[in-house]
Amino acid sequence: MVTISVLEPHKLAIDQREVHPPSKGEIAIQVMKAGICGSDMHILHGSNPFVNYPRIIGHEFAGVVTALGGGVSGLAVGDHVVADPVISCGHCHPCRIGRSNVCANLQVIGVHRDGGFRSIAVVPQENAVRISPSLGFDVAALAEPLAVAANVLWRTGCTADDTVLIYGAGTVGITVLQVAKMRGARCLIADIDEKRLDRAMEFGADAVINSKLKSVAEAVAGEMDGLGPSVVIDGAGIPALLDEACRIAGPAGRIGLLGFSAAPCNVSQQEIVRKELTLVGSRLNRRFIPEVVEWLEAGKLKPSNMITQTFGAKDARAAFNLIEQNPEKTLKVQLAFDA
Ligand code: MN
Ligand code: ZN
Repeated sequence: MVTISVLEPHKLAIDQREVHPPSKGEIAIQVMKAGICGSDMHILHGSNPFVNYPRIIGHEFAGVVTALGGGVSGLAVGDHVVADPVISCGHCHPCRIGRSNVCANLQVIGVHRDGGFRSIAVVPQENAVRISPSLGFDVAALAEPLAVAANVLWRTGCTADDTVLIYGAGTVGITVLQVAKMRGARCLIADIDEKRLDRAMEFGADAVINSKLKSVAEAVAGEMDGLGPSVVIDGAGIPALLDEACRIAGPAGRIGLLGFSAAPCNVSQQEIVRKELTLVGSRLNRRFIPEVVEWLEAGKLKPSNMITQTFGAKDARAAFNLIEQNPEKTLKVQLAFDA
């Protein structure tokens, strides 16, 4: 059984390992497709503060249930499922108010415990969401990044009345774009790479801004009758953008942050108070995967063009190298464990 793990920073291992049967409350999933995320790259490079090593990485995966541990109900061998990597305790304060993604005892599959880059992954039954057999495993494996987008747009309360400015046309920006368009919002996206902006247009952006060539502030100043965008999402994770976001956003604007930089940044308190801005962080997803799966099954989201390359699991090294050396050629690279 192929297993892809990071033994220590910069040390990737691709080997064959025994598979443990699922314990009580767990299920085994034969992984078919798994997406590589920026956070997997951070684990590989030792820049993810939450991980301990060695770790089998991967948290965006879909496959077929092959075995059930004791006491599992509601799932059967042969079911097609996608994983939700968020494991929460269910009894802490955030869990009790429905914010399980910031559980005081949070564990993330592929970060705090072993993940989905293996032929057979064992996960708690609560972390498997059943999908229709007609939904491709490749598309299903996009449910987690789309749930991250759904989460930040829930946090910012995005509706069809909004004009959303998205910083960054990478994987995060493109998922946010798709969910915001589905919600009926007008969407603008800024990036420094012309090819990524072309891709954003293909995914339905109403306008794109090459921030290398012109100021984002000027480009969006006329939005919402001159008030500025009502929602700003930082899909680029650049701390310095927060100050600009506060200046750009219109009155009653909401700013959603997804980046994980520890660097402090200056923001104008006056801007926040004068316009009653709402600044919200968004981490992982708050059980949005079942809803995202419904959107995918109903064809409300059609993200398959996000998958730019698929590598066999044994060739994972080539996949990681491509993402590192030619990031502009990739949007979502997936590993196939089914070959
Ligand atoms: Mn991810
Ligand atoms: Zn909890």
